[in-house]
Amino acid sequence: MSVANILQTMDYGPAPEAAGPAETWLKQHHHQFGLFIDGVWHEAKAHFDSNNPATGKKLASIADGTAADVDAAVKAARAALPGWAKIGGHGRARYLYALARLVQKHSRLFAVLETMDNGKPIRETRDIDIPLVARHFYHHAGWAQLIDAEFADHEPLGVVGQVIPWNFPLLMLAWKIAPALAAGNTVVLKPAEDTSLTALLFAEICTEAGLPRGVVNIVTGAGETGRALVEHPDVDKIAFTGSTEVGRIIRTATAGTGKKLTLELGGKSPFIVFEDADLDAAVEGAVDAIWFNQGQVCCAGSRLLVQESVAEKLYAKLRARMENLRVGDPLDKATDVGAIVSPKQRTQIADLVKKGVAEGATLFQPKAGCPDGCFYPPTLLSNVEPASMLAQVEIFGPVLVSMTFRTPAEAVQLANNTRYGLAASVWSENINVALDIAPKIKAGVVWVNCTNQFDASAGFGGYRESGFGREGGREGMYEYLKRKHTAKTEKPAKPEIVRAGRAEAAAPALTAIDRTAKLFIGGKQARPDSGYSRAINTPSGALIAEVGEGNRKDIRNAVEAAAKAEGWASMTGHARAQILYYCAENLSARADEFARRIRQMTGVSAASANREVEASIRRLFTYAAWADKFDGAVHDPPLRGVVLAMHEPQGVIGIACPDEAPLLGFISLMAPAIAMGNRVVMIPSEKHPLAATDFYQVLETSDVPDGVVNIVTGPRDELALVLAKHDNVDAVWAFAGDAKPIEAASAADLKRTWTSGPVPWFDNHEGEGRHFLRHATQVKNIWIPYGA
Ligand code: NAD
Ligand code: MN
Repeated sequence: MSVANILQTMDYGPAPEAAGPAETWLKQHHHQFGLFIDGVWHEAKAHFDSNNPATGKKLASIADGTAADVDAAVKAARAALPGWAKIGGHGRARYLYALARLVQKHSRLFAVLETMDNGKPIRETRDIDIPLVARHFYHHAGWAQLIDAEFADHEPLGVVGQVIPWNFPLLMLAWKIAPALAAGNTVVLKPAEDTSLTALLFAEICTEAGLPRGVVNIVTGAGETGRALVEHPDVDKIAFTGSTEVGRIIRTATAGTGKKLTLELGGKSPFIVFEDADLDAAVEGAVDAIWFNQGQVCCAGSRLLVQESVAEKLYAKLRARMENLRVGDPLDKATDVGAIVSPKQRTQIADLVKKGVAEGATLFQPKAGCPDGCFYPPTLLSNVEPASMLAQVEIFGPVLVSMTFRTPAEAVQLANNTRYGLAASVWSENINVALDIAPKIKAGVVWVNCTNQFDASAGFGGYRESGFGREGGREGMYEYLKRKHTAKTEKPAKPEIVRAGRAEAAAPALTAIDRTAKLFIGGKQARPDSGYSRAINTPSGALIAEVGEGNRKDIRNAVEAAAKAEGWASMTGHARAQILYYCAENLSARADEFARRIRQMTGVSAASANREVEASIRRLFTYAAWADKFDGAVHDPPLRGVVLAMHEPQGVIGIACPDEAPLLGFISLMAPAIAMGNRVVMIPSEKHPLAATDFYQVLETSDVPDGVVNIVTGPRDELALVLAKHDNVDAVWAFAGDAKPIEAASAADLKRTWTSGPVPWFDNHEGEGRHFLRHATQVKNIWIPYGA
């Protein structure tokens, strides 16, 4: 080829990155690795191969960790915990800083090794994966340094088990290990079976950094090894990234164990292009959204939603751009799209595309095709029906499916028509359109005129079946911490039960017009579907009144009413505060009546009952105060732009209330939830529900919009389980009963659960505050680069 020829085509020649250093490193290890437990390499009984998907060649034998190996690693992590705690935040900061430095020092080796093991282009490992890893350790060295100042109320969880996928092997390791160590935990990490090598190199740099032994343990293996870690009884938390299917298995396996859990799962993220978008920029965005890392990205913009008026124009530009994507040798610096991680994954992608074409989608692939072997060409499927398999299933490959919309409202509807909610990308030159759409999309991350941006300072994580919890930022730190229990008033001063008969004596003073309390649904008192009621007695067994016996149909109605009341979420914090203050005022006006009710039901002294009503009024004030103050944050990641971390409500929360302090417990859970814009279905104390049913009158006279608070009395644990199984309930808080069935049931749609034993409700540190608000909200990060 002549120079003139080259200039004409402007084609690149091959520019391979040298594999030498990585090959030398593998050779030094005789292409075989053990398990990194307690700072020492242990021989394994069995091994499996890790291959280079681009060449099909074996790179190394990887140890297949057994349950006994996992146990040894957990024991090592447990033993290392006190020492790791003792060196304090600053001591841990120095180690995290050293790890960041060493990642940078060995960045070339890490990048080449990652590319060889995973198949992703060297351009990405060199410029994206490894720099983000170093950044994550630096950022978290900072959190370690600030831990006492910024998380004074918190302490580490203990031993953390972490299971990661193969798509960003070292980056996912960093996202897991850095915050865990910064918070003072020790870890056992299991890499994905296809890509263990950079984790093993990382184990070596832990040694190089002089990290105390046992603080980081790396146990390689496949799903069974992961299962052993998840099921290990001495692990305090599981952090998982991977498929939604395995996420469900893990949610089920950890149900009722008290293990803290975070799940980062799959996605089918929308990439929304409005007619006023800069289409050329949007095309480059699409390249980064779906052809970055061969589309094997949980937050890949895999669903292109384009406004009908510009669809053909955009497709034409996209097809032209696809023709120029270079698919091939991942070690070539000019390669855009590398190898698929494994033949199994490649087959899965090819099968789904075939099925989609059979369903009627229009297929486009560049003429150049792709090399033989474990490669798959960039693919565009248009004419895709919103309800079709292609539009709903996560393909996890370089396959973009597209649909059109007419109006912004339709775009939002299509965007949210998925069980996932990890990310979204919005393209419009109109700031009003972009910032109107961003809050309406149910996703943990929204990128405005950009895509696939990540930074340690901005939390990342999903809504809905994309999992729960956040990685990165302040909210990511909370996932590795627990609150110190420092209640000054430990339990409510032991309720002083008065002599039998006194409680009854309080009864006649109550308005005894209607002795059967109904349910409260959609702002109206409703008869229970069952037609039955149950007797509520004084401690000595005298009848006070009856309450409706709620069943699953009543719960369904209540959830429907709550779902309809979504206007509550878009009211201002100030407006919600006004209503909470009004509730407090109206409760205050009836304080005596409520105190008598509490005495009657529980038999506590008049002083205790008065104290409970007073505390309930104060609590309403607390959350009225918070309603317009639980602000988000503006992050300052290394890009020209800002990231808005917004606190959004969870949606509909089902709440099972405790028996202790039947009014205060009820208020302490309802108020933070509604203050943040959630709607609630409350199941009052089964034993003492009358304080809650009396509260209808407060709700009715305080301008609380219909459906914001719904109350269903009856068999509490049974009703809570119905809520945990209900598709339209976004979160369940169970402050009574057995956590296990609730958490197990939540696995079906991965709803958020918050289960807790008795809380000292009278204590203002334990019984109210930011931790309730954090559970009532989820963080959405909206990335807004400054355009030019
Ligand atoms: P996977 O969920 O099976 O594997 C992820 C990790 O979990 C691996 O380390 C694996 O060994 C481990 N694992 C598997 N079964 C386990 C169990 N029962 N208990 C504990 N750990 C277990 O994902 P995969 O097989 O690598 O990929 C399958 C699909 O998952 C992909 O096609 C893609 O759709 C999705 N995926 C998503 C992500 C993401 O980042 N969200 C990453 C990888 C894969
Ligand atoms: Mn591999």
